[in-house]
Amino acid sequence: MDKVVIGDKTFVPYITNEEIQKRIQEVAQEIKKDCEGKNPLFVCVLNGAFIFAADLFRKIDFPAEISFIRYKSYSGTTSTGTVRKMLGLDMDITGRTVVIVEDIVDTGYTAVQLVEEIKKLNPAEVKFASLLVKPDSAKVDAKVDYCCFEIPSKFILGYGLDLDEQARNLKDIYILESNK
Ligand code: IMP
Ligand code: MG
Repeated sequence: MDKVVIGDKTFVPYITNEEIQKRIQEVAQEIKKDCEGKNPLFVCVLNGAFIFAADLFRKIDFPAEISFIRYKSYSGTTSTGTVRKMLGLDMDITGRTVVIVEDIVDTGYTAVQLVEEIKKLNPAEVKFASLLVKPDSAKVDAKVDYCCFEIPSKFILGYGLDLDEQARNLKDIYILESNK
């Protein structure tokens, strides 16, 4: 693996695809313990989680379903600043076990709002899986049930995660070079 340069930023290799796959396999087993026999609905949050969700879902070896949502940010003038809205979940999830699949939890705002919105649709339970969590960036207490990696509060990309829509196609995860 080599360095990746995007604009004036340089990224260095951080987590290899091999390490990612190994960890996802372990997390898939954790999910199995909680969710086997419940026909859980995995809900992948586009765009960032699409590669993680594809790899995770293929490691789920019991009956389960998958669907996809987008979480769109609108610049609003409300007291909370940015207004986000969930788009795309057009099925009845009443009484279902839902596993939200996200790429990364940074401040935690997105995770908390997503869980709140899904809960309004009366599922039996909502679990939250994230490929990455930045614990030192937390502004709100997001409940993450399944986490593959905890990482420092630095910008990362690759394996679905982007910088201005670039680099989602890198097979490994890269981190911003620290002395820059
Ligand atoms: P939060 O609401 O602050 O937790 O933000 C979560 C969202 O910010 C993620 O779904 C990503 O889209 C984006 N994000 C946060 N940190 C990174 C990063 O290091 N690289 C790429 N995207 C990030
Ligand atoms: Mg995301």
